[in-house]
Amino acid sequence: MRWVVRGAFGLAVIGLIALAGLWLFRMQIGGHVYERMAGQLVGVDQSEDLDDGLHVYLCGTGSPLPDADRAGPCVGVLAGRMGFVFDTGSGSIRNLARMGFPVGETEHVYFTHLHSDHIDGLGELMLQAWVGGSRSSPVEISGPVGITPVVDGFIQAYRTDAGYRIAHHGEDIANPAGFGAAATELDLPPDGSSRVVFDAVGARVSAFLVDHSPVSPAFGYRVDYAGRSVTISGDTVKSEAVASAAAGTDLLIHEALNREMVATLADAAASNGDASLSKIFRDILDYHASPVEAAETAQDAGVRELVFTHMVPPLPNKFLHAPFLEGVDDAFNGRAAIGEDGLMISLPAGSDRIVRHKLLD
Ligand SMILES: [Zn+2]
Ligand SMILES: [Zn+2]
Repeated sequence: MRWVVRGAFGLAVIGLIALAGLWLFRMQIGGHVYERMAGQLVGVDQSEDLDDGLHVYLCGTGSPLPDADRAGPCVGVLAGRMGFVFDTGSGSIRNLARMGFPVGETEHVYFTHLHSDHIDGLGELMLQAWVGGSRSSPVEISGPVGITPVVDGFIQAYRTDAGYRIAHHGEDIANPAGFGAAATELDLPPDGSSRVVFDAVGARVSAFLVDHSPVSPAFGYRVDYAGRSVTISGDTVKSEAVASAAAGTDLLIHEALNREMVATLADAAASNGDASLSKIFRDILDYHASPVEAAETAQDAGVRELVFTHMVPPLPNKFLHAPFLEGVDDAFNGRAAIGEDGLMISLPAGSDRIVRHKLLD
């Protein structure tokens, strides 16, 4: 027994010496770790090592409600080497950059609709796409009618900053011709059928009308590349247009609002004396899809995997996932999951695999 006590004592002493060593050399260790991290991350295009295929970056899975874990709505899609960004919610473009998405090389930005939570990170996107890519022509942006004045407004708001960047970094890096964005307003078939809005280098983007009334028009999108596909619902009630556009798609990123949980928030706001907040919670119940309705759409469309986004309400701990997802398993035979900021879902070309990578903690 004695030797056990002695052994434990010896181990404790060694542990203490090791800890003391780490503490004593913390400056050197920290400096070394920092240099290594910088060498691995800064100026390195992390997307270059990805296999050919579709890579879907969940850069923002939140909604207008403040959520410590989720940026505003945003999905990045890398189709081969072509980068697309769908919506630019607040904080999402920083997530996208942290995830290693080549924001500077963004080929095209698409907006689902003009609600503020979907556009409020556009200034950040414009800046990163411009200076990050040393662009010689502005990044291209498409969206519903009204996107042109929105883009013009952001350009106006960022013009002073652009002057500082050009003066400070020089025109080779901050080329004045690449500042801003070029907007196109899309006109889509009123019956909800899809229209191809981008088709090059094997990547095809289709857009379709969804129902987010009274917000109109509002769009969903589908990206196809190398036999793989992802469909993005945008904000919508349960929609036939989403089901038909998503037919046979590998991955459906669908918005979701749990009405019972939001009604609880409305009741809580009312009983705490905030009648206007209570009314806002009641108002939003009728223009989003519930998780079960999204699951029904996924089932109708024959989707392989369903990921929820635009999470309403916020779910600050995992115990809330079960009530949020109640009924989803009965409605959908495939895999369904709550989307998280920092998750990249890869659909490699020439396979039927769906691979998840957690890129942010
Ligand atoms: Zn929204
Ligand atoms: Zn909306």
